[in-house]
Amino acid sequence: MTLPTSLDSLLKLAARTGERIAPLAAATDAGRDDGHEAYRVLRESGLLALLVPREAGGAGLGFGDYWRVLAELGSHHGAAALGLNMHHVVIGALADAAGTRLPPAAETFRAWMLDEVVRGRKLFASATSEAGRGAKLRGMRTRYRLSDDGTHYILSGTKHFVSLAGAADYYVVAAAADNGDENTGEVSHFVVAADDPGVSFGTAHHMSALYGTSTAPMTLDEVPVPRSRLYLGVEGMSLFKVVREPHWMIAGYTGAYLGIAEALFRHTVDHVTASPARADSPVVQQELGRMSARLRAARALVHEAGDLVTAERGSLEANAMVHAAKYVVGEVGPRLAQDALRLCGSAAVSRSHPLERLIREAQFAHVMPAKPQECLEYLGKAAVGVNLYDARAFAW
Ligand SMILES: Cc1cc2nc3c(=O)[nH]c(=O)nc-3n(C[C@H](O)[C@H](O)[C@H](O)COP(=O)(O)OP(=O)(O)OC[C@H]3O[C@@H](n4cnc5c(N)ncnc54)[C@H](O)[C@@H]3O)c2cc1C
Repeated sequence: MTLPTSLDSLLKLAARTGERIAPLAAATDAGRDDGHEAYRVLRESGLLALLVPREAGGAGLGFGDYWRVLAELGSHHGAAALGLNMHHVVIGALADAAGTRLPPAAETFRAWMLDEVVRGRKLFASATSEAGRGAKLRGMRTRYRLSDDGTHYILSGTKHFVSLAGAADYYVVAAAADNGDENTGEVSHFVVAADDPGVSFGTAHHMSALYGTSTAPMTLDEVPVPRSRLYLGVEGMSLFKVVREPHWMIAGYTGAYLGIAEALFRHTVDHVTASPARADSPVVQQELGRMSARLRAARALVHEAGDLVTAERGSLEANAMVHAAKYVVGEVGPRLAQDALRLCGSAAVSRSHPLERLIREAQFAHVMPAKPQECLEYLGKAAVGVNLYDARAFAW
């Protein structure tokens, strides 16, 4: 199936796909299934190739429009939208380089990975976080070395939180060189296949929500990875890349959490509207008005930040805006959740109503990077003129 390229058609496709996966969300949330069916539907929809350049067979979306599509999906099934974003976290950096001539090894790598997505319908995951260290690149404990015959890298370590565990075909794993010091910033990314020898997954984390992200620990025990699967064919560039262009790593999720906030508002309105006595009450109308104002402010900021990344990717202003958008969405979701609780009462705490799940899901925005304090620190540093292109300026 060829993906449409106009934003309008892609939003309609996302809405249709969202309607197909929405009925799956409750059972997965309750732990009655592993949530993989939603990813099968997403594969089938073609939405894995949203960011792949048009000349390579994808939709060629910029970051701003990608966030819009993700928000549409997130309003139907937040966990699946977050899982889909993990795929795009690792595709995004490649897509950003579209149209740029790269060294031969990087060209070959890019062509292979994009083809795997478009023709192979392969799902990619991002394995960065480690226990006690969050998603910080510096001081990574997962290590790599070159094999004695120089044909492979050998990876060993444990990743704490890996979304799409068992659902994805490939895992893009961050690792530091074996000979680097404890706090090394020389981090590289490697594409590890699900069936590479030495790869195993633990059981999915028991969390208060987002079971549908299928998030589990991943162990790499002397995993041999062919040299051709070194991300973009170059070692030690990951920290440099995230310092210059942090939007994928720290704010990809923002669109999905905006979608969860949209759903909170929509379900609250539906609940209130079902009762004319409540819907006609000026007090209830004011409460809905406050929710609407908060949601519109977050949506406007997310759109402006995303469009700025599309227009001037990696500028200090674009980087500051994505931190601001991530922070504000993380604040607004839980506020709307409280408003929904106040307005809908028992409906908002009943497992039979989607609001109950959405209220739990909205809290997770602040757990995923960048954390709220990190967003604020970045914005404060930008305000006082700290050079944020210097990797030492900020604890990545
Ligand atoms: C549903 C879900 C899916 C996920 N999927 C993925 C995935 O696919 N891939 C992936 O790589 N990761 C994933 N993660 C991990 C996520 O990105 C976070 O990094 C992870 O949750 C670890 O963060 P933490 O809550 O343990 O926070 P920590 O990093 O421990 O932070 C907790 C608090 O401590 C503060 N803190 C941390 N260090 C210090 C310090 N030195 N001094 C002072 N304060 C400090 C932080 O600012 C924060 O307020 C996922 C997480 C969840 C919940």
